[in-house]
Amino acid sequence: MKKLLLFLLFTTLPKAYAFDWSLHRSVTARALSPIGFSINTIDQISDANIYIDRQEGSNPATHADSESFEAASALMRSRMKIAATAIISGDMKTARANFGYITHTVQDFYAHTNYVEYMPGKPIDLLNLTNPASYVTCSAKNMMNGLTSGYYPDSTTPARKCSHTTLNKDAGDATLAGAKALKYAERATAEMYGVLEQQVISMSADQEKANILLARFRGEDRQYLFANNDVVSYTGYNETFKITPFVGMTQYSSNKFDYESTYTAGIRAETRINERFVTGFGLTISSMTIKEEVISQFDYSSYGVDLYTKIYLLSDLRFQPYIGAGAGYLKSNLKHTSYMQVNDNDSDMNTLNGEVMGGIDLMFTRGIGFNFEARYVRPFSTSSYTPTYAQTYSQYSTEKLAHDIGNSGHLVFATGMIVSF
Ligand SMILES: [Zn+2]
Repeated sequence: MKKLLLFLLFTTLPKAYAFDWSLHRSVTARALSPIGFSINTIDQISDANIYIDRQEGSNPATHADSESFEAASALMRSRMKIAATAIISGDMKTARANFGYITHTVQDFYAHTNYVEYMPGKPIDLLNLTNPASYVTCSAKNMMNGLTSGYYPDSTTPARKCSHTTLNKDAGDATLAGAKALKYAERATAEMYGVLEQQVISMSADQEKANILLARFRGEDRQYLFANNDVVSYTGYNETFKITPFVGMTQYSSNKFDYESTYTAGIRAETRINERFVTGFGLTISSMTIKEEVISQFDYSSYGVDLYTKIYLLSDLRFQPYIGAGAGYLKSNLKHTSYMQVNDNDSDMNTLNGEVMGGIDLMFTRGIGFNFEARYVRPFSTSSYTPTYAQTYSQYSTEKLAHDIGNSGHLVFATGMIVSF
């Protein structure tokens, strides 16, 4: 029933359409396909082209009917502005719809006017048309005295003016005029995209960004992985700031010992220098307990800050392995507690360290990901410790162990969550 109603609706509609809809589609496809539009995007633009024919069937400006050239230009200009603004804000749906509406008016212009007869192939600025003068008439003799369009419906045609039926190239490529009209319509549709492109570029501060957005508009969204409506560069590396809170463990190793931290945690803040390089700042805290005997233990804690640079090895958006190097400052404290003595002993160490690292940033979206990293930290110089006779055994062993840990390298394994802005 619904289908029957639709059928009746379609077949009983007056023939307002210059080119039939399949011609609007094929002109649009032929115009946009060679300039990089995807099939999907062409379909969306064609859908809008045909939708507006129905939606604004009685608006002469939409179809360049009834000599309403200035209104047609104004309508296209306002839609051009909407489309350009939408592209810049990443709203490709609105942009494609409005550009589709424009293509309808552009194509109808060639089907509804005497352009083909009067000025075939001559340049014309469709966005700044002027209305025909009153002396432009439609008599067979005088039809060539100016650019005009047919009145629609025919019954509204003023004396000596052209009716829709007189000028309409409805027969499409079946007639010479129709074939020419299609050819000009195709060229003008492509040129109208050029106008849109220029408008987007002139409205954008960042040319590179504008080109990326235009490519997305054309449907070259080859990075749909990060298809948020924010601005996405093809490399995906335009985040300005990245924060990675992490947890992990640290392994302190030397030829004398092998300790593991109870916990290691921290946060890193990074900013991208370019596609490949990132610079970062980190804060790391770590803690462990070393049981010496049943009655005695050492509690170790450290606070580190570091600055580093990372180099990404691939230009992949999701899987981003890297290596890096940096330097930092580590303040550590070792405390000895023993049930055998009254006083606890403490030793502080401050070291300047070099570090190398390797890891992977695994992004799930542009904004969220995981980080896995191994980082080897080693002091630039070692400090020696000379025991004195005045020291107790506890003092001696605390100082010695603090120096041993401080002088040796340690390996940090961490996993973190990446939040990028
Ligand atoms: Zn139309």
